[in-house]
Amino acid sequence: VPAAAPQATDAVPRWSGGFTRGGEVTIHGVSKHYGALQVLKDVTLTVPSGSVTVVLGQSGSGKSTLLRSINHLERVDGGFIAIDGELIGYRQDADTLYELGEKDILQRRVDVGMVFQNFNLFPHLTVLENLIEAPISVRGVPRPEAEALAHELLARVGLSDKAHSYPRQLSGGQQQRVAIARALALKPKVLLFDEPTSALDPELVGEVLAVIKELARSGTTLVIVTHEIGFAREVADTVVFMEQGQVLETGTPEQVFNRPQHPRTAEFLAKVL
Ligand code: ADP
Ligand code: MG
Repeated sequence: VPAAAPQATDAVPRWSGGFTRGGEVTIHGVSKHYGALQVLKDVTLTVPSGSVTVVLGQSGSGKSTLLRSINHLERVDGGFIAIDGELIGYRQDADTLYELGEKDILQRRVDVGMVFQNFNLFPHLTVLENLIEAPISVRGVPRPEAEALAHELLARVGLSDKAHSYPRQLSGGQQQRVAIARALALKPKVLLFDEPTSALDPELVGEVLAVIKELARSGTTLVIVTHEIGFAREVADTVVFMEQGQVLETGTPEQVFNRPQHPRTAEFLAKVL
């Protein structure tokens, strides 16, 4: 009789590494390859719940791949990632492979919201419809409740008057604020931002950063990839510098920006500051 495939969902162990409360992200010895190219190399990082982590690094250093792995848009091939001790998808131990089923992956992914550089709103849906679609279809929230939350979130991002507009009728900054409200509508434990202001005209960057700052102050766990150093200095609890798939340096903004320990961090900062 062949051994059962090592894939029992309810056998997936919890990571018991000292998490506190909602939204702690544990990234433990994570690696990721695309073919022969290794884009994440033994990345270990803890994001405490309620904290703000800013990830810096030049293009191609693996920042997006790391965020996409936290959201299970990518499957890591070594190590593991957990949110509040709940494994995201996959973990390889010495001789055992744990892997969640598709349904569980979908459930876990709801805990991790993501905001992309290019907004990614549904163009054929109004702002309100963009905000209620996932809560209704993924979380099973009744429509009136989903709409009430959507209006609340639109007020929070300063767009109450745009509920019935279509994305194309909004500026880039407004679209990105809708995208943030849409991510919040699923009540995620962690919110990931991948260069949320890189596609915006300079005069629209401030309004999006202001919304993210408000989230930071309200205690939402945030992981933000950005090149906005002034913003990072202001909101980050932790700054992480990545190069070639590795975390080279981690510290407070004070430590990393004023007294970088790694010469490559100093070189990078000299270029962007
Ligand atoms: P960053 O966000 O820091 O610019 P990425 O995580 O996007 O870096 O990319 C890291 C490396 O992985 C780059 O060399 C990139 O070309 C490569 N890469 C990213 N996505 C893929 C993919 N789907 N297939 C092959 N290579 C990829
Ligand atoms: Mg990227």
